[in-house]
Amino acid sequence: AWKLRVLIAKNGEDALQRAAQQQPDLLLLDVMMPGMDGFTVCRQLQKDAATAAIPVIFMTALADGDNKVRGFEAGGVDYITKPFHQPEVLARVTAQLRIHQLTHALQTANADLEAKVTERTAELAQALEAARILDAKKSDFIDVVGHELRTPLTVIQGYAQILAHRADLAADLVQPIAAIVSAAAQLGGIVEQVIEAARLNHDSLTLTRAWLNVNDVLRRLMGVYAQTLDERRLTVTLNLPATLPEMWGDAMALYQALEHVLRNAIKYTPDGGVITVSSAAYADAGQQYLEIVITDTGIGIDPAEQRLIFEQFYRAGPVAHHSSGKTKFKGGGPGLGLTLARGIIAAHGGRIWAESPGCDEVACPGSQFFIILPVQYVPPQIAAAAPVETATL
Ligand code: ADP
Repeated sequence: AWKLRVLIAKNGEDALQRAAQQQPDLLLLDVMMPGMDGFTVCRQLQKDAATAAIPVIFMTALADGDNKVRGFEAGGVDYITKPFHQPEVLARVTAQLRIHQLTHALQTANADLEAKVTERTAELAQALEAARILDAKKSDFIDVVGHELRTPLTVIQGYAQILAHRADLAADLVQPIAAIVSAAAQLGGIVEQVIEAARLNHDSLTLTRAWLNVNDVLRRLMGVYAQTLDERRLTVTLNLPATLPEMWGDAMALYQALEHVLRNAIKYTPDGGVITVSSAAYADAGQQYLEIVITDTGIGIDPAEQRLIFEQFYRAGPVAHHSSGKTKFKGGGPGLGLTLARGIIAAHGGRIWAESPGCDEVACPGSQFFIILPVQYVPPQIAAAAPVETATL
């Protein structure tokens, strides 16, 4: 039950003044009054922010349908007809008070919610900024470590080479020094990968482009790894078409990218397995593309990890399972190979992804790496900056 307190105003001006001062929850307003009429009062109330939210119920004569409509137009929320029927007056007043109360509660809840959203958004922005700073710090660290390791490593490699080539080298030192040379070379490879990855982080991968044949790049790569493949008793099947459209790209960079993928195929395939390398050309929407597929009969990759392996430092499965070495079975690296491959391929406007039924070191379901390269990719910044050059490409 509501307990209502009633204030009375004698005319329109009086009503406006009292409403502003006393802030009533509801106004019952006569239409016909001496001086200012009810509609005018209602409009004035709405113009003033202090009284705009106060609901107004008009009191009109029973037969006057026109005034009822005008009442709503002036901003009234309801009307009561005269002569009054007391229970009806109470019911309508109560209903409007309830609506007013609920509206107010809704507005408060809304404002609360908005404040919370603003607060959360600010927190998120802060967290994002913190993550960005950390990420930048991490990149800087990788950069510094890469370059700082390179200098002493060059010294070790240089002197180890000198010692290895000494004519008067004691017999018992030949093997240890050869081991130092080989280990330093392996370390050098990792340091170069780290430096390359840091360069990717800075978006400063620059390509030297020319027309090239991807099949030549693949053949050169297979030639370099022939001995390793032999040692690991891995069979290689090359499915390269006799003619393949040339592509506009950086042969050295593409060689590196493909090398990372091939090296993984070797590393994650047990001795005696099969590696298939194929290339093909196709057209899509007026653009020519090359597709390279490298398939192995190795341990495979869990579907959940098929995207993650392209992320920096990501290595699938438990790290303890990895052995160390460039081409040994499961020989682990720093987890940068595929990140670099993806970066180089993306710089050529291409895509790389992996498919595999899953990871099983016994059943060896194998993996497939797909690489798509547009034959003639024009990087956006060149396209925008030098339209003339683009036209002559
Ligand atoms: P890494 O230096 O560890 O080789 P990569 O970025 O080249 O780093 O590869 C990331 C991870 O992806 C590897 O550690 C391996 O777990 C998984 N992976 C890559 N290629 C293959 C493959 N052909 N078969 C199975 N797993 C693979």
